[in-house]
Amino acid sequence: QVRVRFAPSPTGNLHVGGARTALFNYLFARSKCGNFILRIEDTDLERSTKESEEAMLQDLTWLGLAWEEGPGVGGDYGPYRQSERNALYKQYAEQLLESGYVYRCFCSNEELEKMKEVAKLKGLPPVYTGRWANATDEEVQKELEKGTLFTCRFRVPKEGCLKIDDLIRGEVSWNLDTLGDFVIMRSNGQPVYNFCATVDDATMAISHVIRAEEHLPNTLRQALIYKALGFPMPYFAHVSLILAPDRSKLSKRHGATSVGQFREMGYLPQAMVNYLALLGWGDGTENEFFTLEQLVEKFTIERVNKSGAIFDSTKLRWMNGQHLRSLPSDELTKLIGEHWKSTKILNEAAGNFVEEAVALLKDGIDLIPDSDKALSNLLSYPLYATLASAEAKPVLADRLWDVAASLLAAYDGGELCSALEEGHAGWQTWVKSFGKSLKRKGKSLFMPLRVLLTGKLHGPDMGSSVLLLHRAGICGIVNPQAG
Ligand code: GLU
Repeated sequence: QVRVRFAPSPTGNLHVGGARTALFNYLFARSKCGNFILRIEDTDLERSTKESEEAMLQDLTWLGLAWEEGPGVGGDYGPYRQSERNALYKQYAEQLLESGYVYRCFCSNEELEKMKEVAKLKGLPPVYTGRWANATDEEVQKELEKGTLFTCRFRVPKEGCLKIDDLIRGEVSWNLDTLGDFVIMRSNGQPVYNFCATVDDATMAISHVIRAEEHLPNTLRQALIYKALGFPMPYFAHVSLILAPDRSKLSKRHGATSVGQFREMGYLPQAMVNYLALLGWGDGTENEFFTLEQLVEKFTIERVNKSGAIFDSTKLRWMNGQHLRSLPSDELTKLIGEHWKSTKILNEAAGNFVEEAVALLKDGIDLIPDSDKALSNLLSYPLYATLASAEAKPVLADRLWDVAASLLAAYDGGELCSALEEGHAGWQTWVKSFGKSLKRKGKSLFMPLRVLLTGKLHGPDMGSSVLLLHRAGICGIVNPQAG
């Protein structure tokens, strides 16, 4: 039976790399009718926090990656937090001490430092030289009686090589001669990550370990521990790194990198999941749009790429737009309506205002917060409010429309634009003859004209304003480019 796990250390936020590892594990489990297990690797007591654990669970839940076993849901192989599994690690450490795969090392930190220095001077790798590897029982007994602190070290074969058949990378092999005997239990009794992870993966009956490429050196150590404990080895699959567009390792300086940041920016979980899946995977066609269900259906580990994947935030944004527009219209209306309410851009939307506005604007919206700007752009021309104002009514009601008709004719005929090309003098001449032709002057000419040209009842000198608008080409009517 397929059993895979995502095993985050709760020492920070869930980053896109971790989220993708979780997703690949989830997809693999779902596509093989297996189990997806969540294990919290909190052996680093100083850096692990409850808040980080909770935030990670929340992020995974938001992405829709539900686990069958783990914190909150339990399961037959618990507990699922390493900090609650110490007795188990102790038991297996003792087993390894008895069978001789592991030995006690009484070297002090100073001795270890010296060893490293000597190695450096000789141009050798800074590995432990195994001073306690072959100590006699008496020597060990003597130190134990003195109460000297000791670490437990794994006895690495001094030669030979170790191979694994990685499901993504093919054969991976390591020479053992430069590894050195590594610590599995610290002198304070705290077990070390590689040891805990192996004991956990073995006792939780994990069939496939799918994780980031940076864990390859750990895999070597873990494989040795598997063998020593006599557990069958799981399959391994190491997923390539996520890179920034400049091909360096993706980090904070490249912008948002944590799932929580993207959620706060208004990204949809389905777009996030879709985009993460494409970081190193594709179904072999041009298609890039997938729902989580479709990913489960299509996903195979063989199609995961072994070269690094570039994180392109522009593409993620575009993809969010695709998912946003594929939502049923009532769902999209609800999402955007709630957003508008929360940003207070709308006080209270009457009738189906939101629905109609969303239908009108959605093509220009990739992220929900974009909808604020789209809506205010739509509503910002104040002509309607101007016309509706009590002050405007008596002045404009009977005058606006014939002025509008003539203005349009002057615009279409090009007279207005050529007049404006002549600057202030041109404007003045034009406005005079325009008034004459309508038999209007003063307020009865200027008020409707101002409203039509600027959308406002009052403002700075109209000629200067219109000339400015003309030059900027932003006035709806007076657009020099339109002619
Ligand atoms: N706790 C490790 C990490 O956060 C996970 C290693 C593993 O998947 O074995 O990187």
